[in-house]
Amino acid sequence: MILFKQAGALTEHLQRQKNTGKTVGFVPTMGALHEGHLSLIDQCTAGNDITVCSIFINPTQFNNPEDFKHYPVTISMDIEHLVAAGCDILFLPSTSEIYPTGYLKKHYDLGSIEHNLEGHYRPGHFQGVCEVVDRLLDIITPDNLYLGQKDFQQCMVIKKLLEITGRAVKVDLHICPTKRESSGLAMSSRNLRLTGQEKELAVSIYKELENIKVNLPQTPLETLKKNAKEHLTRQGFLVDYVEIAKAGDLAPSENASEADVALVAATIGNVRLIDNLLLN
Ligand code: AMP
Repeated sequence: MILFKQAGALTEHLQRQKNTGKTVGFVPTMGALHEGHLSLIDQCTAGNDITVCSIFINPTQFNNPEDFKHYPVTISMDIEHLVAAGCDILFLPSTSEIYPTGYLKKHYDLGSIEHNLEGHYRPGHFQGVCEVVDRLLDIITPDNLYLGQKDFQQCMVIKKLLEITGRAVKVDLHICPTKRESSGLAMSSRNLRLTGQEKELAVSIYKELENIKVNLPQTPLETLKKNAKEHLTRQGFLVDYVEIAKAGDLAPSENASEADVALVAATIGNVRLIDNLLLN
């Protein structure tokens, strides 16, 4: 695996490879890699000649400074995992490499998806996500981009970003299934910050999502959402939302036939967790 810290050197290297007809796949991450991330790397290596992974904890997407400060960093282990997974290139830029002096902040016109659900609870988050992904795509210009369904709204936002920046025809977006612990808990870098007891409780998020899916045909959506919220609150979660939504803009579904995905965001201890389940 080759490690690049500088954007210019990486772009030049990849351009030389592309000139020989090689395809490039890209997996953006913030590190603290787990099997979920590595499943994206596996899909990427299977579908491309060159797999590029980036590790960059992007400050502009954190609306909560404490979350940014405590975001886990496990870089030497990450490198070992990436080498074992057959990743070809790791891009590990500094903040000034991504946002150099004179960098002009853009505004991305994402429509209503920017302000629904996560957008409401994390103002500015998706602008920050688009800012970093836009920059990384400029540097890497991949043929294929791999994202996890774990961050469903982020996938929809980046799909929109590809459309509005005219990249949708050049980059194929692959949304990869959520990797879970055997308990059902969605793998997440933030799980490292859970105590043993909190980790056991956190499984309830997945259980409530499954419950919604099983009962969807015979129960009103409002009842499903209210019950899930009550169950989680009773167990000590601070629930931001339980929503049943349409894919695309993630507007609330009016009825079961337009219910594409159930999504939850809830905090246990000091850790805010998100998860979702496709319903059809
Ligand atoms: P992050 O490092 O959290 O920014 O995640 C980097 C990428 O890995 C994103 O596309 C995530 O959606 C994806 N990802 C995170 N957790 C999982 C998981 N449990 N299963 C599959 N993909 C995941």
